[in-house]
Amino acid sequence: MDLLTVEHLTKTYGTGENAVHALDDVSFSVPRGQFLAIIGPSGSGKSTLLHILGGVDRPTSGHVYMNGEDVYSRSDTALAIFRRREVGLIYQFYNLIPVLNVVENITLPVLMDGRKVNDARLQELLDTLGLRGREKHLPNQLSGGQQQRVSIGRALINAPSVVLADEPTGNLDRKNSQEIVELLKYSNRQYGQTLIVITHDESIALQADRVLAIEDGHIVRDEVIRK
Ligand code: ADP
Ligand code: ADP
Repeated sequence: MDLLTVEHLTKTYGTGENAVHALDDVSFSVPRGQFLAIIGPSGSGKSTLLHILGGVDRPTSGHVYMNGEDVYSRSDTALAIFRRREVGLIYQFYNLIPVLNVVENITLPVLMDGRKVNDARLQELLDTLGLRGREKHLPNQLSGGQQQRVSIGRALINAPSVVLADEPTGNLDRKNSQEIVELLKYSNRQYGQTLIVITHDESIALQADRVLAIEDGHIVRDEVIRK
């Protein structure tokens, strides 16, 4: 069974004359462990799709199945738990909490779930992310690349089935961008985590297993580059 299956997804914002059809009958499946890049012009529906995959925003119609379960048949409470446990979200501008330090930002999803932090996992993550010695730093004491590594830590701490990243390197220079991509690829390979990345950067899309191109709310290209 594929990890993720999307069936006849539509999303309309607003009503009547102001209605925007951000997604129009989108269907596809993502096998477990795949690294999928989503490309397409600005305003084509990429972020909307990613949010719907991540349980953040209910579709207007259609279904998202993860591990065979209909994500949006859940109540809002169950959906919030699903987001924290099954999905890791990464944004272009990091979305870190400014008053929390590195460790506090990374462990937030665990604490919000009322669970205990697995210290071995946290230490391993800090090592992998190159954030040792930065545990007590606040986001504004870190470079952009470091802040994005913290947000990757926050996305990975609960060992989610899928990591969803919306332009994760859009605010970084080439060297830092590639470091972030290497970290995402490492967790994809090492833990078999499914990885879906929206990117405008062709050099990143070319590193994916598969590229999905979206235009005007439709899939216009779906190409497997490597198995
Ligand atoms: P992309 O990520 O490809 O730039 P988006 O998914 O952000 O595209 O947006 C797709 C379309 O939906 C755009 O026309 C955008 O203006 C519109 N849209 C996105 N979010 C909202 C919203 N919350 N309310 C109204 N329109 C929105
Ligand atoms: P990077 O290699 O991630 O681009 P920079 O060259 O931006 O890092 O920063 C070099 C060092 O300076 C980093 O170790 C970073 O932690 C530190 N640094 C960057 N910005 C700030 C800041 N606003 N406050 C404190 N330290 C910072």
